[in-house]
Amino acid sequence: MRAAIFTENDGPLVVEDVTPVDPGPRDVVVQTTASGICHSDLSVINGTLPMPPPAILGHEGAGIIDFVGAEVTGLKKGDRVIGSFIPACGTCWFCLRDQSNLCENTYSVMMNQRATRGDGTPLPAMTGLGTFAETMTCDQMSVVKVDTDLPDEQLALIGCGVTTGVGAALNTAKVQPGSSVVVIGCGGVGQAVIQGARIAGAARIIAIDTVALKRDTALKLGATDAVDPGDGDIVAQVQALTGGRGADYAFEVIGVAELITAAFNCVRSGGTAVAVGVPRFDAQVSLPTYPLVLTEKRLLGCVYGSAQVRRDFPKLVELVETGRLDIGDMVSSTIPLDDINKGFDAMKAGEVIRSVIHLH
Ligand SMILES: [Zn+2]
Ligand SMILES: [Zn+2]
Repeated sequence: MRAAIFTENDGPLVVEDVTPVDPGPRDVVVQTTASGICHSDLSVINGTLPMPPPAILGHEGAGIIDFVGAEVTGLKKGDRVIGSFIPACGTCWFCLRDQSNLCENTYSVMMNQRATRGDGTPLPAMTGLGTFAETMTCDQMSVVKVDTDLPDEQLALIGCGVTTGVGAALNTAKVQPGSSVVVIGCGGVGQAVIQGARIAGAARIIAIDTVALKRDTALKLGATDAVDPGDGDIVAQVQALTGGRGADYAFEVIGVAELITAAFNCVRSGGTAVAVGVPRFDAQVSLPTYPLVLTEKRLLGCVYGSAQVRRDFPKLVELVETGRLDIGDMVSSTIPLDDINKGFDAMKAGEVIRSVIHLH
Protein backbone atom coordinates (compact mmCIF):
# COMPACT_ATOMS: atom_id res chain seq x y z
CA MET A 1 0.00 0.00 0.00
CA ARG A 2 1.06 3.60 -0.41
CA ALA A 3 1.53 5.78 2.64
CA ALA A 4 2.91 9.20 3.56
CA ILE A 5 5.89 8.64 5.85
CA PHE A 6 7.27 11.08 8.40
CA THR A 7 11.03 10.61 8.04
CA GLU A 8 12.55 13.68 9.72
CA ASN A 9 11.49 16.68 11.76
CA ASP A 10 10.60 19.69 9.60
CA GLY A 11 11.05 17.68 6.40
CA PRO A 12 8.38 16.85 3.82
CA LEU A 13 6.43 13.60 4.16
CA VAL A 14 7.61 10.91 1.75
CA VAL A 15 4.92 9.01 -0.17
CA GLU A 16 6.09 5.45 -0.82
CA ASP A 17 5.04 1.81 -0.97
CA VAL A 18 5.10 0.03 2.38
CA THR A 19 4.06 -3.44 3.48
CA PRO A 20 1.31 -3.66 6.11
CA VAL A 21 1.85 -6.07 9.02
CA ASP A 22 -0.37 -9.13 9.26
CA PRO A 23 -3.42 -8.17 11.36
CA GLY A 24 -3.72 -9.70 14.83
CA PRO A 25 -6.86 -11.44 16.13
CA ARG A 26 -8.32 -8.19 17.53
CA ASP A 27 -7.27 -6.03 14.57
CA VAL A 28 -9.28 -4.77 11.66
CA VAL A 29 -7.97 -3.74 8.27
CA VAL A 30 -9.63 -0.57 7.02
CA GLN A 31 -9.51 0.66 3.43
CA THR A 32 -8.99 4.36 4.10
CA THR A 33 -11.37 6.50 2.05
CA ALA A 34 -10.48 10.00 3.27
CA SER A 35 -8.20 11.71 5.77
CA GLY A 36 -8.15 15.26 6.99
CA ILE A 37 -4.85 17.08 7.48
CA CYS A 38 -5.00 18.32 11.06
CA HIS A 39 -2.74 20.77 12.83
CA SER A 40 -1.65 18.01 15.22
CA ASP A 41 -0.04 16.20 12.26
CA LEU A 42 2.01 19.34 11.67
CA SER A 43 2.82 19.42 15.39
CA VAL A 44 4.41 15.97 15.08
CA ILE A 45 6.41 17.05 12.01
CA ASN A 46 7.71 20.21 13.71
CA GLY A 47 8.38 18.48 17.02
CA THR A 48 5.70 20.21 19.13
CA LEU A 49 4.24 16.75 19.79
CA PRO A 50 7.01 14.26 20.54
CA MET A 51 6.90 11.26 18.18
CA PRO A 52 10.11 9.87 16.71
CA PRO A 53 10.35 9.24 12.94
CA PRO A 54 9.83 7.14 10.92
CA ALA A 55 6.08 6.73 11.24
CA ILE A 56 2.87 6.86 9.25
CA LEU A 57 1.08 10.07 10.25
CA GLY A 58 -2.61 10.99 10.08
CA HIS A 59 -5.21 10.56 12.80
CA GLU A 60 -8.41 12.03 11.31
CA GLY A 61 -9.93 9.56 8.89
CA ALA A 62 -12.69 7.26 7.77
CA GLY A 63 -12.88 4.12 5.72
CA ILE A 64 -14.46 0.75 5.00
CA ILE A 65 -13.65 -2.44 6.87
CA ASP A 66 -11.85 -4.86 4.57
CA PHE A 67 -10.94 -7.63 7.06
CA VAL A 68 -11.67 -8.48 10.69
CA GLY A 69 -9.50 -10.65 12.97
CA ALA A 70 -10.88 -13.83 14.55
CA GLU A 71 -11.65 -12.18 17.92
CA VAL A 72 -13.21 -8.97 16.57
CA THR A 73 -16.81 -8.43 17.60
CA GLY A 74 -19.47 -6.07 16.22
CA LEU A 75 -17.65 -5.23 13.02
CA LYS A 76 -17.67 -6.91 9.62
CA LYS A 77 -16.24 -6.48 6.15
CA GLY A 78 -18.00 -3.64 4.34
CA ASP A 79 -18.83 -1.60 7.46
CA ARG A 80 -18.19 2.15 7.23
CA VAL A 81 -16.08 3.31 10.15
CA ILE A 82 -14.55 6.48 11.56
CA GLY A 83 -11.14 6.20 13.20
CA SER A 84 -11.02 7.23 16.84
CA PHE A 85 -7.64 8.81 17.56
CA ILE A 86 -8.07 7.84 21.19
CA PRO A 87 -9.24 4.23 21.40
CA ALA A 88 -12.42 3.44 23.30
CA CYS A 89 -11.87 -0.04 24.70
CA GLY A 90 -15.12 -0.01 26.66
CA THR A 91 -13.69 -1.95 29.60
CA CYS A 92 -10.91 0.09 31.28
CA TRP A 93 -11.38 2.21 34.43
CA PHE A 94 -12.04 5.40 32.42
CA CYS A 95 -14.24 3.86 29.73
CA LEU A 96 -16.43 2.39 32.48
CA ARG A 97 -16.85 5.89 33.91
CA ASP A 98 -17.96 7.55 30.66
CA GLN A 99 -14.51 9.02 30.07
CA SER A 100 -13.43 7.00 27.06
CA ASN A 101 -11.50 10.06 25.85
CA LEU A 102 -9.04 9.14 28.64
CA CYS A 103 -8.97 5.41 27.74
CA GLU A 104 -6.04 3.59 29.32
CA ASN A 105 -5.13 2.11 25.94
CA THR A 106 -4.36 5.56 24.46
CA TYR A 107 -0.61 5.04 24.45
CA SER A 108 -0.40 1.27 23.95
CA VAL A 109 -2.04 1.43 20.50
CA MET A 110 0.63 3.90 19.36
CA MET A 111 3.45 1.47 20.08
CA ASN A 112 2.37 -1.26 17.65
CA GLN A 113 4.26 -1.70 14.41
CA ARG A 114 1.74 -1.31 11.61
CA ALA A 115 3.83 -1.52 8.43
CA THR A 116 7.36 -2.06 7.15
CA ARG A 117 9.36 0.11 4.76
CA GLY A 118 11.14 -1.39 1.77
CA ASP A 119 14.42 -1.48 3.72
CA GLY A 120 12.80 -3.38 6.59
CA THR A 121 12.37 -0.40 8.94
CA PRO A 122 9.28 -0.85 11.17
CA LEU A 123 6.61 1.86 11.05
CA PRO A 124 4.21 2.68 13.88
CA ALA A 125 1.05 4.61 13.06
CA MET A 126 0.15 7.93 14.67
CA THR A 127 -2.43 7.33 17.45
CA GLY A 128 -2.70 3.72 16.28
CA LEU A 129 -4.42 4.84 13.06
CA GLY A 130 -2.09 6.28 10.42
CA THR A 131 -4.78 7.71 8.16
CA PHE A 132 -2.25 8.98 5.56
CA ALA A 133 -2.19 5.50 4.02
CA GLU A 134 -4.34 3.47 1.65
CA THR A 135 -5.13 0.98 4.39
CA MET A 136 -5.01 1.06 8.18
CA THR A 137 -4.39 -2.02 10.28
CA CYS A 138 -5.66 -1.05 13.69
CA ASP A 139 -7.14 -2.41 16.89
CA GLN A 140 -10.91 -2.82 16.87
CA MET A 141 -11.07 -0.40 19.82
CA SER A 142 -9.82 2.38 17.49
CA VAL A 143 -12.76 2.40 15.08
CA VAL A 144 -16.46 3.21 15.39
CA LYS A 145 -19.03 1.90 12.94
CA VAL A 146 -21.43 4.46 11.47
CA ASP A 147 -24.46 3.85 9.29
CA THR A 148 -24.75 6.79 6.91
CA ASP A 149 -24.44 7.98 3.31
CA LEU A 150 -22.49 11.13 4.17
CA PRO A 151 -19.47 11.88 1.95
CA ASP A 152 -16.17 10.32 3.00
CA GLU A 153 -14.42 13.64 3.61
CA GLN A 154 -17.12 14.73 6.06
CA LEU A 155 -16.87 11.46 8.00
CA ALA A 156 -13.10 11.87 8.12
CA LEU A 157 -13.38 15.22 9.89
CA ILE A 158 -15.56 13.68 12.58
CA GLY A 159 -12.48 11.61 13.46
CA CYS A 160 -10.75 14.61 15.06
CA GLY A 161 -11.62 18.24 14.38
CA VAL A 162 -15.41 18.13 14.42
CA THR A 163 -15.67 15.91 17.49
CA THR A 164 -13.03 17.89 19.37
CA GLY A 165 -14.65 21.24 18.63
CA VAL A 166 -18.33 20.42 18.92
CA GLY A 167 -17.56 18.27 21.95
CA ALA A 168 -15.61 21.08 23.64
CA ALA A 169 -18.78 23.21 23.50
CA LEU A 170 -21.37 20.53 24.27
CA ASN A 171 -19.51 18.13 26.55
CA THR A 172 -16.61 19.96 28.17
CA ALA A 173 -18.08 23.45 28.70
CA LYS A 174 -21.75 22.48 28.45
CA VAL A 175 -22.54 25.83 26.79
CA GLN A 176 -25.95 27.11 27.89
CA PRO A 177 -28.69 28.62 25.69
CA GLY A 178 -28.47 32.43 25.51
CA SER A 179 -24.84 32.54 26.63
CA SER A 180 -21.84 34.37 25.17
CA VAL A 181 -18.92 32.44 23.72
CA VAL A 182 -15.43 33.45 22.56
CA VAL A 183 -13.41 31.23 20.23
CA ILE A 184 -9.72 32.07 19.83
CA GLY A 185 -8.43 30.39 16.67
CA CYS A 186 -10.82 29.51 13.84
CA GLY A 187 -9.20 26.62 11.98
CA GLY A 188 -11.05 23.33 11.63
CA VAL A 189 -11.46 22.72 15.36
CA GLY A 190 -12.35 26.36 16.08
CA GLN A 191 -15.07 26.32 13.41
CA ALA A 192 -16.46 23.19 15.06
CA VAL A 193 -16.47 24.92 18.49
CA ILE A 194 -18.45 27.75 16.90
CA GLN A 195 -20.95 25.29 15.47
CA GLY A 196 -21.19 23.45 18.79
CA ALA A 197 -21.95 26.75 20.53
CA ARG A 198 -24.57 27.55 17.88
CA ILE A 199 -26.18 24.11 18.32
CA ALA A 200 -26.20 24.71 22.09
CA GLY A 201 -28.11 27.96 21.53
CA ALA A 202 -25.46 30.53 22.43
CA ALA A 203 -26.73 34.07 21.82
CA ARG A 204 -23.38 35.64 20.98
CA ILE A 205 -20.41 33.85 19.45
CA ILE A 206 -17.27 35.93 19.02
CA ALA A 207 -14.75 34.44 16.56
CA ILE A 208 -11.15 35.63 16.88
CA ASP A 209 -8.57 34.97 14.17
CA THR A 210 -5.87 36.89 12.34
CA VAL A 211 -6.92 35.38 8.96
CA ALA A 212 -9.85 36.97 7.11
CA LEU A 213 -10.89 33.67 5.44
CA LYS A 214 -11.28 32.08 8.86
CA ARG A 215 -13.25 35.01 10.29
CA ASP A 216 -15.55 35.00 7.23
CA THR A 217 -16.10 31.23 7.48
CA ALA A 218 -16.84 31.63 11.20
CA LEU A 219 -19.55 34.20 10.45
CA LYS A 220 -21.05 31.78 7.93
CA LEU A 221 -21.04 28.88 10.40
CA GLY A 222 -22.65 30.65 13.33
CA ALA A 223 -20.41 33.35 14.78
CA THR A 224 -22.21 36.65 15.46
CA ASP A 225 -19.06 38.77 15.70
CA ALA A 226 -15.60 38.49 14.19
CA VAL A 227 -12.59 40.01 15.94
CA ASP A 228 -9.24 40.68 14.27
CA PRO A 229 -6.38 40.73 16.80
CA GLY A 230 -4.76 43.28 14.49
CA ASP A 231 -7.41 45.78 15.59
CA GLY A 232 -6.20 45.78 19.19
CA ASP A 233 -6.07 43.79 22.43
CA ILE A 234 -8.50 40.87 22.14
CA VAL A 235 -9.53 40.96 25.80
CA ALA A 236 -10.53 44.63 25.44
CA GLN A 237 -12.40 43.85 22.20
CA VAL A 238 -14.31 41.01 23.89
CA GLN A 239 -15.18 43.19 26.88
CA ALA A 240 -16.53 45.87 24.53
CA LEU A 241 -18.89 43.26 23.04
CA THR A 242 -20.01 41.83 26.40
CA GLY A 243 -21.03 44.83 28.47
CA GLY A 244 -17.58 45.15 29.98
CA ARG A 245 -18.00 41.88 31.90
CA GLY A 246 -16.35 39.38 29.57
CA ALA A 247 -17.93 36.29 27.99
CA ASP A 248 -19.53 33.31 29.70
CA TYR A 249 -17.13 30.94 27.91
CA ALA A 250 -13.86 31.28 26.03
CA PHE A 251 -12.13 28.52 24.06
CA GLU A 252 -8.46 28.56 23.14
CA VAL A 253 -8.15 26.47 19.98
CA ILE A 254 -4.58 27.14 18.87
CA GLY A 255 -2.31 25.69 21.54
CA VAL A 256 -0.35 28.73 22.71
CA ALA A 257 0.11 29.13 26.47
CA GLU A 258 -0.25 32.94 26.37
CA LEU A 259 -3.54 32.58 24.51
CA ILE A 260 -4.86 30.21 27.18
CA THR A 261 -4.20 33.04 29.62
CA ALA A 262 -5.96 35.41 27.20
CA ALA A 263 -8.98 33.07 27.05
CA PHE A 264 -9.08 33.09 30.85
CA ASN A 265 -8.97 36.90 30.81
CA CYS A 266 -11.79 37.02 28.22
CA VAL A 267 -14.35 35.38 30.53
CA ARG A 268 -16.51 37.14 33.10
CA SER A 269 -16.46 36.50 36.83
CA GLY A 270 -17.67 32.94 37.26
CA GLY A 271 -17.02 32.24 33.57
CA THR A 272 -15.32 29.21 32.05
CA ALA A 273 -12.22 29.10 29.86
CA VAL A 274 -11.46 25.88 27.98
CA ALA A 275 -8.02 24.89 26.67
CA VAL A 276 -8.59 22.89 23.46
CA GLY A 277 -5.46 23.53 21.34
CA VAL A 278 -2.44 21.35 22.11
CA PRO A 279 0.59 23.37 23.28
CA ARG A 280 4.17 22.12 23.51
CA PHE A 281 4.41 19.47 26.22
CA ASP A 282 6.84 21.58 28.27
CA ALA A 283 4.78 24.80 28.08
CA GLN A 284 3.42 26.36 31.30
CA VAL A 285 0.25 28.43 31.66
CA SER A 286 0.30 31.51 33.86
CA LEU A 287 -2.97 32.66 35.46
CA PRO A 288 -3.78 35.72 37.54
CA THR A 289 -4.74 34.33 40.96
CA TYR A 290 -7.20 37.01 42.05
CA PRO A 291 -9.84 36.28 39.34
CA LEU A 292 -9.15 32.55 39.61
CA VAL A 293 -10.05 32.40 43.29
CA LEU A 294 -12.07 35.48 44.19
CA THR A 295 -14.17 35.71 41.03
CA GLU A 296 -14.53 31.94 40.61
CA LYS A 297 -13.26 31.74 37.06
CA ARG A 298 -12.65 28.23 35.83
CA LEU A 299 -10.08 26.83 33.39
CA LEU A 300 -10.86 23.38 31.96
CA GLY A 301 -8.64 21.09 29.92
CA CYS A 302 -10.26 19.37 26.96
CA VAL A 303 -9.08 16.34 25.01
CA TYR A 304 -11.12 15.00 22.09
CA GLY A 305 -14.01 17.25 23.11
CA SER A 306 -14.59 15.08 26.20
CA ALA A 307 -16.34 12.87 23.65
CA GLN A 308 -17.55 9.34 24.15
CA VAL A 309 -16.95 8.34 20.55
CA ARG A 310 -19.29 5.35 20.47
CA ARG A 311 -22.09 7.66 21.62
CA ASP A 312 -20.98 10.89 19.93
CA PHE A 313 -19.85 9.85 16.41
CA PRO A 314 -23.35 8.62 15.50
CA LYS A 315 -24.82 11.72 17.17
CA LEU A 316 -22.61 14.03 15.09
CA VAL A 317 -23.46 12.09 11.93
CA GLU A 318 -27.14 12.68 12.63
CA LEU A 319 -26.56 16.39 13.26
CA VAL A 320 -24.93 16.62 9.83
CA GLU A 321 -27.65 14.56 8.13
CA THR A 322 -30.35 16.84 9.51
CA GLY A 323 -28.49 20.01 8.52
CA ARG A 324 -27.73 21.20 12.06
CA LEU A 325 -23.99 20.75 11.66
CA ASP A 326 -22.19 21.89 8.50
CA ILE A 327 -19.01 19.95 7.79
CA GLY A 328 -19.11 20.54 4.03
CA ASP A 329 -18.15 24.20 4.43
CA MET A 330 -15.18 23.19 6.59
CA VAL A 331 -13.65 21.18 3.72
CA SER A 332 -11.66 23.74 1.72
CA SER A 333 -10.08 21.32 -0.75
CA THR A 334 -9.77 17.62 -1.53
CA ILE A 335 -6.39 16.41 -2.77
CA PRO A 336 -4.67 13.13 -3.70
CA LEU A 337 -2.15 11.54 -1.32
CA ASP A 338 0.71 12.64 -3.58
CA ASP A 339 -0.14 16.29 -2.87
CA ILE A 340 -0.04 15.90 0.91
CA ASN A 341 2.88 18.30 1.36
CA LYS A 342 0.96 20.95 -0.59
CA GLY A 343 -1.85 20.41 1.90
CA PHE A 344 0.53 21.17 4.77
CA ASP A 345 1.82 24.26 2.93
CA ALA A 346 -1.77 25.53 2.55
CA MET A 347 -2.37 24.97 6.26
CA LYS A 348 0.80 26.85 7.24
CA ALA A 349 -0.20 29.72 4.94
CA GLY A 350 -3.68 29.95 6.54
CA GLU A 351 -5.30 29.35 3.14
CA VAL A 352 -7.64 26.53 4.22
CA ILE A 353 -9.96 25.47 7.00
CA ARG A 354 -9.26 21.80 6.19
CA SER A 355 -7.63 19.98 3.29
CA VAL A 356 -8.83 16.41 2.94
CA ILE A 357 -6.96 13.61 1.18
CA HIS A 358 -9.03 11.22 -0.92
CA LEU A 359 -7.50 7.75 -0.91
CA HIS A 360 -10.06 5.51 -2.64
ZN1 LIG B 1 -6.39 16.29 14.96
ZN1 LIG C 1 -10.74 2.21 27.69
